[in-house]
Formats: sequence, C-alpha cells, structure tokens
Amino acid sequence: MNSHNWIERGLTSVAATYGRYPLVAASGEGCWLTDIDGKKYLDFLAGVAVNNLGHCHPKVVAAIRQQAGTLLHCSNFYHIPQQIELAELLCEHSFGDRVFFCNSGAEANEAAIKLARKYSSENYRADRIEVITALASFHGRTFGGISATGQEKVRNGFGPVVPGFSYVPFGDIEALRAAITPHSCAVMLEPLQGEGGVNVPPAGYLQAVRELCDERELLLIFDEVQVGCGRTGSLFAYQQEEIEPDVMSLAKALAGGPPIGAMITREKYAVALGPGTHGSTFGGNPLMAAAGLATLKALLEDGILENCVAMGDYLRRKLEALQEKYDFIVEVRGRGLILGMELNIEGGELVKTALERGLLINCTVGKVLRFVPPLIVSRNEIDQMLQILDGIFADEQENQP
Ligand SMILES: *Cc1c(COP(=O)(O)O)cnc(C)c1O
Repeated sequence: MNSHNWIERGLTSVAATYGRYPLVAASGEGCWLTDIDGKKYLDFLAGVAVNNLGHCHPKVVAAIRQQAGTLLHCSNFYHIPQQIELAELLCEHSFGDRVFFCNSGAEANEAAIKLARKYSSENYRADRIEVITALASFHGRTFGGISATGQEKVRNGFGPVVPGFSYVPFGDIEALRAAITPHSCAVMLEPLQGEGGVNVPPAGYLQAVRELCDERELLLIFDEVQVGCGRTGSLFAYQQEEIEPDVMSLAKALAGGPPIGAMITREKYAVALGPGTHGSTFGGNPLMAAAGLATLKALLEDGILENCVAMGDYLRRKLEALQEKYDFIVEVRGRGLILGMELNIEGGELVKTALERGLLINCTVGKVLRFVPPLIVSRNEIDQMLQILDGIFADEQENQP
C-alpha cells in the first residue's frame, strides 16, 4: 500500500469533512512526521497544537504502555487514581479546585457552558443563561460549540443552534460592556485566539474583562484548549495576564497526543455540577489520565516551557526578518510558540507548496500562516523550517505580477 492507494480508499470511505492534503501519516518522532512512502516532514503544525512534546514523547509512550497493560478503562462510578493525580496536579498549578474530565475541547466547553448556566440560574435568576463570546472565536463543533463560536460559517445549515449566545469584537471592552444584559451569565474567551487568525488581545483587555465580570457577577470562562499546556510559554496563557478566570477548558495537548478534555473551576462554582448533573463514559479514563499525567509532569519538569519561550523569541525574530524582505507579509504576531504571519495574499497555495517541500504548516482565515511546532523544537529545526519558507516566499515574490 503506497500513499496513492490509501488516499483513494480514504476519499471513498471516510466522511469528507476535511479538505485533506495528500499525505498519508505513518510514524512520528520529535518534530518529524514520516509518511507511508518514507518521506519526512518537519512538523510545524503538531497535530494542530496537540503534540506539544513532539511525536511519541518517550515518557508519554512509556506511561501509556504501562497503563495499557494494567487497566484500560473503568467506569466513573468508581475512583480512578490516575484521574485523581491528574486533577490534583492541574489544580496545584492553576487557579482551580476541581476538574471535570471529558474527551475533547468541544466537550470541555460544553461542560463550562452548562456549569455557567446552572450556577447562574440557581444562584442569581432563573433566566440568567446567556453567554457572551468573541467574534472570530472558535469553541468546537458540537451544538454548544458552534453556538458559542463567533463565526457564522460554522453554523451554516445546522440551525436552529443553541439559543443564548451573543458575540462582540475581540479586544473591545466597551462593546462587551454594552452587550451585557440582565440575562447574561458568563463571558467566554480564548485568551489568545487560535483558529480566528492568531489574534493577541490588546494590553489590559483581559484585566478589564475580569473587572467587568466581577462587577456584573458574570463567570469568566477561558477557552485554553489551544493556548494552554505550555503553548504560550507559561503552563496556561492566563498566567501572563495577572488575572484568573473562574472556569478554564483544556484539551488538545493535555495528554501529549491521545484524546482528553478538562474543565477546571473553583469550588464555589463546581458545587453546581453535583452527582447526576453531567458526565462522560470515557472522561478521565485510566489510559488517558496516565498519558495526561506524564505529559503535564514533562511540561513542568523538563525545561519545556523555557524552551518554548526561547525558541518562540527566536522564531518570531526570524519571521519578522522575513517580513522586512517580502512585501506580501503584513504582520507577525503571537506569543511563545503560537505565531501567526498575516499575508496580503492567499496562504492556501503556500501551505501546499510547503508540504511538497517537506514542511507542515497551516493557514487560518485564508491569509494567516500559523506556526505551532512542538515546544521541544530546536534552533536547528527552526532554521531548517525557515530555509524552506524563505524558498517558498522567494518563488512567490518572483511569480507576483
Ligand atoms: C480545537 C479547539 C476547540 C475544539 O476542540 P476539539 O477537541 O476539536 O473538540 C475548542 N476551542 C479551541 C480554542 C480550539 O482551538
């Protein structure tokens, strides 16, 4: 079976919900993905900010192997030591007191929204159920997720969606203030928008949002599904803002590759979700929790956050140097190792060319190239990436009218 055969089979058997590139994945190690024909790719997409420790990190693989031979699954009717340890570690290193485990980012956000509605309707007024989110946000593909997402295109054809959501421009505190009604119960934001184009909020915005939420007794929910787990250089993105949310959703990189989701909150709010109010068959099962525990320990103990900061600075400077060189680069932005490069041309073709030349990157909102490599990336690997990128840009410059 070569790539061609697999692609043909995939295109006729798997639901066509993704516009897939012609790469058939076979194996991965560190920052490198190898396809079924043996071609190696430098992976600056990292499973969309999932493989923060790189592919097949030895500590994560060892934890999974060990747990797989001991206990794969056990009902949440019983206590699960790996889940307890992961919850304790997450709380120790965040604002949280309690963790609800699930299997994805969308599910973590569902839990957050359900918590906010239940807490507010029980503690303030029965009709306090509305959640304000940001335009250009992304919160997942479930009905709650697409209802919360501030992008019309994810809802097209799926209506009626969940009522009770409104959207404001990200970074505009006055627009948020104006959107609050007697029915509002929460504000839900990504501290730095990923899918929406790597949008960094203006300085002081998140602090102002925190103050406004306190003043109006609204829960502040941070969706850190993409920017949590070390991506911005601190374990959680909010930790660079000198404020804390009331609820935080995590997923993507939390277990180093395998599926996991978590909703973290304070004791005060957690009591709203008592026995029988919410649940998940697989959420926090022993296998995923063991992977999560190994991942979190590695993030905290192996100098990975420090590498993220250092390599993030380096990559950013190098991308800014490219901006000087090519007119079609508008801006470089981001934090740590989530960096976006806004172009004034379509980025889709450049991503395809990069793939052909052995580099995996992606493009969001049509014109923003997104760089989210594993946090273990080396300077040498960044240099290799830049060499490929520079070559692609040089060709593009030549072909411009
Ligand atoms: C990826 C993502 C989600 C959805 O996560 P899934 O695991 O695909 O459900 C939600 N929010 C943000 C910010 C994301 O980046």
